[in-house]
Amino acid sequence: MVSVKLKDINKKFSNTVVLNNMNLNVEDKEFFILLGASGSGKSTTLNIIAGLERATSGDILFDDKIVNSMSPVQRGIAMVFQDYALYPHLTVRNNIAFPLKMRKYTKDVIDEKVEEVAKTLGLEEYLNRYPRELSGGQAQRVSLGRALVRDPGVFLLDEPLSNLDAKIRNQIRVELKLIQQNLGKTFIYVTHDQQEAMSLGDHIAILRNGKLEQVGAPMEVYKNPRNEYVAAFLGEPV
Ligand code: ADP
Ligand code: MG
Repeated sequence: MVSVKLKDINKKFSNTVVLNNMNLNVEDKEFFILLGASGSGKSTTLNIIAGLERATSGDILFDDKIVNSMSPVQRGIAMVFQDYALYPHLTVRNNIAFPLKMRKYTKDVIDEKVEEVAKTLGLEEYLNRYPRELSGGQAQRVSLGRALVRDPGVFLLDEPLSNLDAKIRNQIRVELKLIQQNLGKTFIYVTHDQQEAMSLGDHIAILRNGKLEQVGAPMEVYKNPRNEYVAAFLGEPV
């Protein structure tokens, strides 16, 4: 089980304040959405949670333990990016197997886990293909598969569906929610898409210029926006 807390997180790049005193509680096993316009600080926040970037000040806690100086591997996170970030010279099978090979699992165990994940994601037919032979939707499934095989405590997803066309985006969105519910794992998901946020999130946090405007259950925030910015960003209640 993994809860994630941000305590008084500040981030500056040279003299520019990018995150301004962020406080957040992500509960164990929830689908948490960080929603904001481009440049609002979503990726920076996710990278700090991942351990890819250090905050200028403040603490990151996993299960109430400070992890500030721990690496992504030590934190037990897996990340999924907008651009898939697959290894171009490896087949789908070997892309998914990569984290397991790093951990020196036996071939039998690796094959079994890769096939299980391929089944979950509908990738059985594509295991021998290379990334250049995949559609965007298939590539993003492989990227998800590579995160799933690691069985991380926390999944961090940075606009994973942004590069996909609407039909595939909606399809994978539904699957993602099911996967998260079946796994019972903590997901922190960054998006600029209000509909994605509303349909996926157990809780959503709205970020604007490095500051949190509002955090809550999607319908709660939608019906009771704290200010005009949040109202306009989510759309008027109907
Ligand atoms: P988002 O993911 O919401 O689009 P980012 O977290 O990528 O936002 O960026 C937030 C702000 O921080 C932007 O103004 C961006 O230009 C700035 N920024 C991000 N990374 C760096 C960096 N490595 N150096 C300087 N500025 C950065
Ligand atoms: Mg970003």
